Amino acid sequence: MSRARSIRDADLSGRRVFVRVDFNVPLGDGESITDDSRIKAALPTIRALLEQGARVILASHLGRPKGERKPALSLRPVAADLAAKLGQPVAFAEDCVGAEARAAAEALQPGEVLLLENLRFHKEEEGNDPAFAAELASLADAYVNDAFGTAHRAHASTAGICEHLSPCLAGLLIEKELAYLGEKTADPDKPFVVILGGAKVSDKIAVIDALLDKADAMLIGGAMAYTFALAEGHSIGNSLSEPDKVETARAALAKAKERGVRFLLPTDHVVARGIDFSARTVAETKGVEGDIPEGWEGVDIGPRTREAFASEIASAATLLWNGPMGIFEIDACNAGTFAIAQAVAEAPGTSIIGGGDSVKAIHQSGYADEVTFMSTGGGASLEFLEGKTLPGIAALDPA
Ligand code: AMP
Repeated sequence: MSRARSIRDADLSGRRVFVRVDFNVPLGDGESITDDSRIKAALPTIRALLEQGARVILASHLGRPKGERKPALSLRPVAADLAAKLGQPVAFAEDCVGAEARAAAEALQPGEVLLLENLRFHKEEEGNDPAFAAELASLADAYVNDAFGTAHRAHASTAGICEHLSPCLAGLLIEKELAYLGEKTADPDKPFVVILGGAKVSDKIAVIDALLDKADAMLIGGAMAYTFALAEGHSIGNSLSEPDKVETARAALAKAKERGVRFLLPTDHVVARGIDFSARTVAETKGVEGDIPEGWEGVDIGPRTREAFASEIASAATLLWNGPMGIFEIDACNAGTFAIAQAVAEAPGTSIIGGGDSVKAIHQSGYADEVTFMSTGGGASLEFLEGKTLPGIAALDPA
């Protein structure tokens, strides 16, 4: 299912609405929020519900407390930040279930907001425990999911809770994810060009396979490209690869050929020696064409490849990008990824960034405002693009 009923199609005035948001924000020293983009991303849904006169009960996970109450992973600092952003008080309950949560939910008036403590302080959340889901549900009489990043997990707050509440609706963020990752790539305006990078073929083979049914061109960079290079009989020196996935890569190449999909692999590379991941430095880099010499490691796509990829990107009507073209965390290896970020940003077609590191790269390159859509999900976007049913979406009312 790629569509769910949205909060736009319902009247929630006066209702107590349990809203699953993604407030999994990075916290620095002294509980300061070092990146508030996830809080900002939830504001349109929260504001829309408040404007409808709903009583808004927000719930999220933060970090990985693994079922234990860890004060360093409390959502309390988020309540203060959210109150400042909304310009109104945000009540906070020290637990997401139990007497205090219930009293706070009952006291809530239309147009007021309550944030519950970290859902994952209870192991029952990730276990999708039915009794825990029922307890969460008892706080409210309607449900909204706006946390796309956890929609691929069947947890109590994303799946089980929907057995007790009606309606179960998509928030504005999830609605947008479904429109771009779902509808726009299911029946894409053509030419449809897919750019995939990152570390492993094994992580992305299902996406490659699904998208080969629809793409006109597929451009592969990152370490993933070296497994394909092995499949084509090239030498790859010390480059990261998955020799046990060479057959899988061969099958993808055969499928591309059979379907007439242009499959572009890097023809030149930046190679390096003496990579220090923790210091983010390399001792030596150089450019090579074709095979990678012994003792060197491929760390980025070379200038010719950047140009070839950019010209495919410029002619696309729909673009989908997931995964960096090299070790973009290290300055000496980031030029290829940033060149692709620029090409995608400048392309006239609809540009969709499929989450994770590519979103980071687009932000770092300064082109974030130029792309059509950036997904808020990493694993969730990949699973969705693979064509899998996401439990957190399947639990919602159909459109
Ligand atoms: P993924 O999570 O699969 O999208 O992979 C992202 C990671 O792939 C990033 O941390 C990159 O540093 C890494 N990566 C990309 N290209 C290479 C490469 N040529 N060699 C090693 N790691 C790479």
